[in-house]
Amino acid sequence: MIAPEIREKYKVVIGLEVHAQLATESKIFSPDPNAFGNDPNTNIHVISLGHPGVMPLLNKKAVEYAVMMGIATGCEITRFGFFDRKNYFYPDLPKGYQITQDKTPICTKGALEVELKNGKLIKVLINRIHLEEDAGKLIHLSGEKDSLVDLNRAGVPLIEIVTEPCIHSSKAASAFLTEIRKIVRYLHICDGNMEEGSLRCDANVSVMLRDAKELGKKVEVKNMNSIKNVAKAIDHEVERQIELLEDGEEILSETRTFDVVTGKTYGMRTKEELNDYRYFPEPDLSPLEISDEWLEEIKSKISVLPNDLRIELETKYGLGPEDASQLTAQKEFAMYFKEICEHTKSYKSVANWFKGPIKSYIKDKGISLEDFPLTHEQIAEVIKIIDEGKISFSAASQQLFPHLLANPEESIQEAIADLNIAIESDSGSIQTTIDEVISASPDKVKAYNNGKKGLIGMFMGEVMKKTNGKVDPKLANKLLRETLDKAK
Ligand code: ADP
Ligand code: MG
Repeated sequence: MIAPEIREKYKVVIGLEVHAQLATESKIFSPDPNAFGNDPNTNIHVISLGHPGVMPLLNKKAVEYAVMMGIATGCEITRFGFFDRKNYFYPDLPKGYQITQDKTPICTKGALEVELKNGKLIKVLINRIHLEEDAGKLIHLSGEKDSLVDLNRAGVPLIEIVTEPCIHSSKAASAFLTEIRKIVRYLHICDGNMEEGSLRCDANVSVMLRDAKELGKKVEVKNMNSIKNVAKAIDHEVERQIELLEDGEEILSETRTFDVVTGKTYGMRTKEELNDYRYFPEPDLSPLEISDEWLEEIKSKISVLPNDLRIELETKYGLGPEDASQLTAQKEFAMYFKEICEHTKSYKSVANWFKGPIKSYIKDKGISLEDFPLTHEQIAEVIKIIDEGKISFSAASQQLFPHLLANPEESIQEAIADLNIAIESDSGSIQTTIDEVISASPDKVKAYNNGKKGLIGMFMGEVMKKTNGKVDPKLANKLLRETLDKAK
């Protein structure tokens, strides 16, 4: 661990390169299916295999998806551009070149506002978004000396989103990636699944002394399969680089890989010798022109974006950054929240019910919100009854809620009566229960009065259990403290 005063001397600089596989039906230049998880080498076609004499044909949907992403991230859209060949040899690239965009990326100069967990807003500048094709995949089976190649992925459409080196912490990098994942999901252009590799991120990391004029040498870290791991890889890389500099050593410009097991990065190859990809315009594709009409049509397909909803949840409904972030993870979540809020003003309670009981139910059952058995009105009514002090939150979440889910037709009043969970505000009967609980554990009472105040939770639990959650927790807590004090 580096001492905080040493760490303070340095500024962290991060630029991200995010690849998103576009969820088109077929590949970017050929008709073979774009699907994950099929048997190896079944989603292939002569075009993606690079047979001699075949001609690529551009997938219109892929262009539309890339433009949607550009609009959602405030980019300028390139109205007249072309594709380039990037030449290199690798066994997962049958053609010997990748079709990409070098000189005329489809989107440029974007900016995205991102909120950090502490509520701070940052602006991430986007250098460009370009369209390209994915390569196949090499499979290295352990213990085998030969590797296998699966070309199902060859020719899958990708966008690469390249940020400026303007991100200054792993937390900011995570927040940016989370936002990108939300956007691609809201736009339905990519499933955003990092484990399956439909969303991938390379992190370029450098450190510099705070008063330095020039950026430090960057290291590119690859192979992180979750947002958490991107943050871990960055944190490790920052520590490693500061330690090297503090020891008077140099940072090597290199590509490193992140190992989940050790949480460390390891060198793969140095970048000192520059690759020469011999880019040149792809002669088999005509230039890509985006007309005014087409651009308008694409724009009209974009409805609400996660940032719009976040701002609405924070300003109109008064939610904090954590709640707003969780509720905008999917558009359906935020919409559902807003619908319940049509029937109640206890917005914070709605957020809590959503994040807790509702979300765990749909997750456990593997269903979507559409199939959630209770209506918005029913949920709002449960919240209202708790707010009015008629039932406790614990009785509502542990008994009423499961009961209603099993019997969605039953009225809430009936259910409360059936379950016998209405709060009794009669302090006399609560007192009787408290006295019973206290006299059952004289040792604990002594310990409480000798300073182990945490035991109050145990006593409250007992009272709740004995009364079937039918007491007003505030009143019970007050009476319990008074009774314990008297028992001294
Ligand atoms: P390269 O030519 O090595 O690919 P680019 O200029 O294309 O480098 O940048 C690639 C990525 O690296 C971008 O996301 C950019 O923001 C980031 N980057 C560039 N310089 C630095 C630096 N000194 N520290 C951190 N990231 C950097
Ligand atoms: Mg580059």
